[in-house]
Amino acid sequence: MDLTKKSIQKIIDYCEEHGLDFQSLPEIIDEPKVAPMVRGIGFEYVIKNYLINLLKKNDNLTVKKEIINSQLTVKGDDLQIYERDTKKSFSLECKLAKNNSFSLGTKNKKYSHCSIKVMRSRTLGDEIIKRLSKKGEATIEELKSHKDSYLYNHFDLVITNLRNAFYITNEDKKFIFRPNDEEWSFLENFCNTKNHSKIDNDLKNNHYFANSFDLAPISKNNICNRKKCPNPNDCKFIPNYPVFRFDELGKVWKNLKYIEKFFSI
Ligand SMILES: [Zn+2]
Repeated sequence: MDLTKKSIQKIIDYCEEHGLDFQSLPEIIDEPKVAPMVRGIGFEYVIKNYLINLLKKNDNLTVKKEIINSQLTVKGDDLQIYERDTKKSFSLECKLAKNNSFSLGTKNKKYSHCSIKVMRSRTLGDEIIKRLSKKGEATIEELKSHKDSYLYNHFDLVITNLRNAFYITNEDKKFIFRPNDEEWSFLENFCNTKNHSKIDNDLKNNHYFANSFDLAPISKNNICNRKKCPNPNDCKFIPNYPVFRFDELGKVWKNLKYIEKFFSI
């Protein structure tokens, strides 16, 4: 409770410092332009705290979050995990599932799935394309046809949460968690309970991770469907919306509670 009081005081001080109206803050963070950013960055902190708690007895792995102004740099990690044994730092990218992207199956994907939004918010400019191609990361042709995508080696792991796949935009243009009847019955089965508030909690507290390499076509898990992609079978770019298959849990996407296994291989 003391921590909550401290946090509230910090927000009051923040508003005072910047000449903002504290009472308007709940409305401000719910504005359609602001809410996706608050939720996206908020998710990075959820994962940071989740990992710190999960790894508190593991003295080989340390979780770090460096705050970087991404307008000034090309690369800024959401989070890092430092591995003491190998002296290596692994970068983590936190990305929520795409709004309203759950499907029980389509003509081409005959399995329950949703999409994870991994695309760049700022597309690559000509200057950065030149720089990256000189570094040998990819050819100019490859980079130009994937301006809004990440190369798989841009980060090591992608962390996601699936709850957003069951979000819709309501009449007031607000994003809300609202599965339809078909989705609730799928979730009852998936979470093994009929209790909807327990399902909601399960979705909030279970996160998944994938090795970035496994998301790119070069891993042979998929084919690049960009029209102008020079090498669709060996493409090194992560699709903007990689698929999360509910029937193949543990293959590409694994529950984040097993993250230590990734480091012990
Ligand atoms: Zn491609």
